[in-house]
Amino acid sequence: MTAMPALSPRLSGMGPSPASMLRRRARELRAAGRDVIELSSGNLDFPTPDHVIAAAHAAALRGETRYTDVDGTPELKQAVRSALLRDHHLTYAQDEIIICNGSTQALFNALQATLAPDDEVIVPAPYWAPYLDQVRLCGGTPVVVPCPQNNGFKLRADDFEAAITPRTRWLIINNPVNPSGAVYSAQELSGIADVLLRHPNIWILADGLYEHMVFDGVPAPTLAAIEPRLKVRTLTVSGVAKSYAMMGWRVGYAAGSAALIRAMNTIQSQSTNSASSISQAAAVAALEGPQELLSERASILRAKRDRFAGIVNECAGLSCEPPEGTFYLLIGCAGVIGRHSPDGKPIASDRDFAAYLLDHADLAVVAGEDFGLSPYIRVTFANAAETIEEAGRRLKRACAALR
Ligand code: PMP
Repeated sequence: MTAMPALSPRLSGMGPSPASMLRRRARELRAAGRDVIELSSGNLDFPTPDHVIAAAHAAALRGETRYTDVDGTPELKQAVRSALLRDHHLTYAQDEIIICNGSTQALFNALQATLAPDDEVIVPAPYWAPYLDQVRLCGGTPVVVPCPQNNGFKLRADDFEAAITPRTRWLIINNPVNPSGAVYSAQELSGIADVLLRHPNIWILADGLYEHMVFDGVPAPTLAAIEPRLKVRTLTVSGVAKSYAMMGWRVGYAAGSAALIRAMNTIQSQSTNSASSISQAAAVAALEGPQELLSERASILRAKRDRFAGIVNECAGLSCEPPEGTFYLLIGCAGVIGRHSPDGKPIASDRDFAAYLLDHADLAVVAGEDFGLSPYIRVTFANAAETIEEAGRRLKRACAALR
């Protein structure tokens, strides 16, 4: 074996995100001829709207193919300001906005720009897995606060306050929540805001990437709008990936105090530079174009949610409550733990169950362990109706086959 020069100690215990590993594994199995249904990804099966693609094409033909300002084009920053005003009654100045390569980069910039070694970041679980490794990559320590199902998978103000130490630098609060689909109400956020008002040294990262994927008229408020006194230390993060089905275009944004945005700009200018010029033109069209598609798509998703949740609740050992937001179901699988696959393998954890579903039912799902809460699996319902039906049949069969 040839020796390889060393990797950074920063990477110890870290790997690619669980969802991206599963995506790759599902692709490999498909290449080997297996008909794997991917319920594991954060992709939606909606297309990017035509007017958005047309705007990107027109921008490229107009020659908008050069570097833009690191923190984004003036047009997109303006469109983000208008969207924040329209959707949340939040007013931001032009220098309080940064456009990033997806909201993933907005989060990373913010953590890079603020964390000192061993600073703590409070992350409610279940969580979007990259929060933890981003904190670690920036030298910080994630402090996970469990939010069990009987709390609606949401952070309770008391539990939050108990987790605060003199080293706490950030609270990351995601609304609606990936992976549970839970949606914090204004009242619930107010309770958390009251705690934050007592602790003036904590930044707040409000990740609203799924803000438009809410059902049954439930709003998804954001913290800076709920408590204006916190606005100066809140970074309001969102993007076009989910709302406009633009996952691959890589445009996200953040709004916050000019000083924090400037610091994030410094990190971004030395790491990736601006988001793609063409994608930024597309994002302007998405944010400024017709918005009816948001509620139209939410009602399509709601019907899929109801169908898939109905099927899941007919599966032996599984249960879920239809969530108020996102396009994920977090399925409780306590009822299958302790059982055995037909070939005698024990199902001792949600990870074992996820592995069983992939191997025996050609279903790719994410284990709850990857979101910091067990025993659950997460599936997406943003799939074609036939895919949901077929996935449901396989899930039922797989559960019934356990001994
Ligand atoms: N936040 C949450 C909660 C997410 O689920 C995701 C992606 N799945 C992101 C941020 C990052 O999204 P993007 O970089 O595509 O904007």
